[in-house]
Amino acid sequence: MAEVKEGLAIAHLGQGIAVENNGRIILCQPLRKLDTIAVGDKVLWSEAAPGQGRIEEILPRHSLLMRPARNGKTRPVAANIDRVVVIFAMEPRYDCLLIDQYLAICENSNFKVALVLNKADLPGTEEADRELAVYVGLGYPIYKVSAKTGMGLEGLKQALQGQVSIFTGQSGVGKSSLTRVFIPDKEIKINAISASAKLGRHTTTAATLYHLKEGGNLIDSPGVAIFGLADLTADELAYGYKEFRPYIGNCRFNDCRHEQDKGCAIRTAVEKGTISECRYRRFLKLKDKIPLKPR
Ligand code: GDP
Ligand code: ZN
Repeated sequence: MAEVKEGLAIAHLGQGIAVENNGRIILCQPLRKLDTIAVGDKVLWSEAAPGQGRIEEILPRHSLLMRPARNGKTRPVAANIDRVVVIFAMEPRYDCLLIDQYLAICENSNFKVALVLNKADLPGTEEADRELAVYVGLGYPIYKVSAKTGMGLEGLKQALQGQVSIFTGQSGVGKSSLTRVFIPDKEIKINAISASAKLGRHTTTAATLYHLKEGGNLIDSPGVAIFGLADLTADELAYGYKEFRPYIGNCRFNDCRHEQDKGCAIRTAVEKGTISECRYRRFLKLKDKIPLKPR
């Protein structure tokens, strides 16, 4: 029997998956369906033919990012992500409701989060600082950067070291500009993947894992709107506001909706100022706005 080795799935190709092992890239076929394997998966594979492998097993994942597929189901995009980097910008002007939404999803999926305010070269950042201070107070670091001038990028690079990250954000915020800064040799790396995994043409829209020069890995997933709230229940949304957690369960009624209810521990905390009123208001807004799952 062929020797079984460990490898890292770094890209989905036309006819298989590019698996990296000791700096070498092999085109591998999965035992089951292609889309059961996600970029970032650690796998066990064996050489099926010279330069070609077969994936025998997916090793346990500590996280999995899903996205909606055409058939209404979800499919894995990226596995073993440590940190989601939520990018927003001075222009188009960030929306705290949307930031809360990203945070709620990350909290429910156990992803660490870094918030990035891009285009900090544009005016108005002092006001933004005041508005965004609530997130810093909650323990979410905010990196103020400019892909254009290079401001603040060193700090962000350091934050990505030693872990697997993925960028996300609305279009226009500078996601591709920042990706170019972090992976300046992206084209070369894509060509290397295609050349090593001979039959596998790289599809530019597919998620790909890149090693960063400064250390750490970045999964680039262009054009994928990964995040939707539709998969959360109202309870999970409340859990996603992490400062609510100490109060959840202390409301007078078990099924408290944290709206008008008498004896709501969260509302009391808002009145006392321990929970920020604007976060609480946005929680109510999201609850109304989003088609949450029934309990
Ligand atoms: P994406 O849609 O999120 O991938 O955004 P892009 O990277 O394509 O950037 C959208 C626009 O914002 C482009 O015109 C960029 O030149 C511009 N842009 C990106 N980063 C910055 C920045 O730091 N400062 C300024 N002023 N403009 C930027
Ligand atoms: Zn309540």
